[in-house]
Amino acid sequence: MQPLANYINGQLASPHSQAYLPNQNPATSEALASVPASDAQDVAQAVEAAKAAFPAWSDTSPEERANFLSRIAQAIESRLEEFARAESEDNGKPLQLARAIDIPRAAKNFRFFAHAITQFHSETYDMGQQGFNYTLRRPVGVAGLISPWNLPLYLLTWKIAPALAAGNTAIAKPSEVTPQTAYLLSEVCQSVGLPPGVLNILHGEGPKVGEAIVTHPEVSLISFTGSTRVGQRIATLTAPQFKKVSLEMGGKNATIVFGDADYDRALAGTLRAAFTNQGQICLCGSRILVERSIYERFVADLADGVSNLQVGDPLEERTQVGAIVSEAQWKKDLSYLDLAREEGGTILAGGEALRVSGRCERGFFIKPTLIAGLAPQCRVNQEEIFGPIATVIPFEGEAEALAIANGTPYGLAASVWTQSLPKAHRVAAGLENGIIWVNSWMVRDLRTPFGGMKQSGVGREGGMEALRFFTEPKNVYISLDT
Ligand code: NAD
Repeated sequence: MQPLANYINGQLASPHSQAYLPNQNPATSEALASVPASDAQDVAQAVEAAKAAFPAWSDTSPEERANFLSRIAQAIESRLEEFARAESEDNGKPLQLARAIDIPRAAKNFRFFAHAITQFHSETYDMGQQGFNYTLRRPVGVAGLISPWNLPLYLLTWKIAPALAAGNTAIAKPSEVTPQTAYLLSEVCQSVGLPPGVLNILHGEGPKVGEAIVTHPEVSLISFTGSTRVGQRIATLTAPQFKKVSLEMGGKNATIVFGDADYDRALAGTLRAAFTNQGQICLCGSRILVERSIYERFVADLADGVSNLQVGDPLEERTQVGAIVSEAQWKKDLSYLDLAREEGGTILAGGEALRVSGRCERGFFIKPTLIAGLAPQCRVNQEEIFGPIATVIPFEGEAEALAIANGTPYGLAASVWTQSLPKAHRVAAGLENGIIWVNSWMVRDLRTPFGGMKQSGVGREGGMEALRFFTEPKNVYISLDT
């Protein structure tokens, strides 16, 4: 079994500690390649490389940087199957999902920011007889980029692409649970001749290598996506150093189905929003609010839909729901099923682990689950589970829908299903979420700011917003007498 390597200063490198972490395919329990257990020494080396590369990289033209990003995108696309397999093996997600969505979207992140940087501009203000002023937007320096396991390559490249496009150099740390696609990205960067030190990729555990990146005095900016708990820790660690920080964190998103919705579209959309990627997308709608006028019928049809989802071997084309990402997450999900019963919930579909025969008989699977009868304030309806488990909650009218939807500490996303346009506008305006979909879910336009409110996020990523985040503005006033 070949160990994975860090990518530092353009070279593949073993960790200083020579220690490695195990990595398991959650669909089969087979051991995958071992993962470097990097630490502060590896971070110090990567920061040196990134610092040394910064003057030349930040001096390149936007077109030169765009050219590198486009070549990275092309190289990922040309190895699509290899990337998709690695992601499915690491994560347990259906191969067809990784092939059709995750990997193509990761390549698109590079393409998008390759275009965006050539269009990026800053402001100039005419002050009449006094003169004028303009804003210089310069890269910040060495950026620390930390990402989770659920959409491993997509979320990591969503940070790497704008950081590099804006002229920064970077240290990226993928989740130790899903390291393989980031390792393949190191190979891609080598193959396109990205200058050494511009991007460094370090593998390992959050408290060791992640914190060493976050607290390193020469890493001036942190972009983090992951849990609210770790986001809070990063906010605490970075505050004394006044680092620029973006935190994209957890969610407990509501899907709101009004009685006047297009019934079939709402049913299909709700099912997709709750269970895509085993419910392991920060944007998944795990609290399904249904207006009382259609509650009985909608919930019965939804329970049928949930029971009919094809769960199984991620490599099979017909599989819609694959394995849970790890044994630890699987146990966490199952503990919430126990809690739902303790809190008085009724299981309408699923509600237990699933044994898949053949190759996957030792894998971590759970039957997609729908639960009714839980009050909005109970723990199952308040805490982020991050698995194939959703609840249904009845409501009467817009005011109650908003009160329930907004009644958690989170504020990431929501989707609203109604055929009344005025109602859609009113409800969207009343929701405390960074992203709101009307009669749709998971539609993304990379130009828009992405992120959550309340305990779901600080700062926004995406589009020109990301290029602004990855640059520091300096204002220059020029007197006409100059
Ligand atoms: P996590 O917070 O456990 O880990 C995320 C990353 O942070 C990993 O790379 C991990 O190694 C690292 N890390 C852990 N402790 C650290 C520390 N002390 N210092 C620095 N880095 C540390 O999250 P996870 O379990 O990998 O992912 C699931 C979570 O991510 C869910 O809460 C989900 O909602 C969230 N998420 C949010 C978004 C978003 O855009 N808002 C997108 C995807 C996932």
